[in-house]
Amino acid sequence: MPRDGARLEALLQSQHRVLGIYVTFRCPLTCAHCGVDSHPRREERIDPTLALEQIEKAARGGAVHALHLNGGEPFLERKLLAAISEKARDLDLDLAITTSGHWATSLDRARKILEELPVLTQMLISTDQYHLPFVDLSVVANAARAAAERGVLTQIGICTRTGESDEFVERVRAVLGPDLVEEVELLIFPLDPVGRAEFLPEAHWRREAPEWPAGRCHQLNRPVLLHDGSVSACCNTQVTHRRPGPNPLKLGNCRERGIDELLATVDDNYYIQMIRAGGPALLAQIAAARGAELPVQRFRSGDICQLCDVILHDAAAQRVLAEAFADPVVQRQVAVWRAAALDELHMLNRFVPQPPDTARASMEGSLK
Ligand code: SF4
Ligand code: SF4
Repeated sequence: MPRDGARLEALLQSQHRVLGIYVTFRCPLTCAHCGVDSHPRREERIDPTLALEQIEKAARGGAVHALHLNGGEPFLERKLLAAISEKARDLDLDLAITTSGHWATSLDRARKILEELPVLTQMLISTDQYHLPFVDLSVVANAARAAAERGVLTQIGICTRTGESDEFVERVRAVLGPDLVEEVELLIFPLDPVGRAEFLPEAHWRREAPEWPAGRCHQLNRPVLLHDGSVSACCNTQVTHRRPGPNPLKLGNCRERGIDELLATVDDNYYIQMIRAGGPALLAQIAAARGAELPVQRFRSGDICQLCDVILHDAAAQRVLAEAFADPVVQRQVAVWRAAALDELHMLNRFVPQPPDTARASMEGSLK
């Protein structure tokens, strides 16, 4: 039976409880705004054995409680989805999936396909004016109805230019009809110039200003496993993988080191914890205080990923930040931010001297 979708939402607020898996970058659609540049000719797909092994490791390590399958179009790999669903059931994991819903050409077909995923907890169906040439809204409604009937937390993600409700959102409501609109949550996202959307004039709507965009990053709670075994700390692969080679948001490759070990490194990663607790603007502040001048002077307001990207791929900023995060004074500052912003105290506790009784008890314990 599907489990409570609200639990999955709560897990997203915690550090690395939800593992994203890019099942494939292939997609039968070619939406003009595709942020990951998917299309029918892309061939990358995850090796099923690798995916299932790493899910097992991540869950047995105790950190990961839910999986979020993404792409491309995950429903192109239905056999693997069914195997992952079985694995999720065995390991008591919640399961979410993002799709265009293109496969729901009739309500009967949609119901049959979802029967293959008995533990599905949440389904996010993407639609907007860019999907519309390929997937009619009646097809989206079939997918939503089939999911809602199964008790799956069903959401429709709609990208509008500025993230405000518009005439398209009203069309979606009308097609869903009064009964389904009550059961399905509509999420509205802004269009940003990422992936193919970079070439859309309307994606460049944000005002540019010299100020660093402020705000903590919540997406950093969701690490992702890619088709080639690489694991990154956040789901924005257009930033983390924009250039080859290591960077602080690439955790490593699970073909070399198990995903459970890679995910465990995050808790002590001051760079990542600074973005979680204070956002990329705080990284920029630390880098500036140590003399690094960013190569970009104007930033899109409200787009923290752009600033994160600039810092991540600037050699001077990376050099001074590596020096800063090796400094115990800065480490303590990060721990304070983390405690204040996220109510996570264990990092800060390491900087607080242990009371003599606790220290003695732990020494005696280690001598036994
Ligand atoms: S459906 Fe999604 S993954 Fe496929 S092309 Fe459109 S935006 Fe990209
Ligand atoms: S702000 Fe940085 S860490 Fe957060 S989602 Fe954007 S690119 Fe990833």
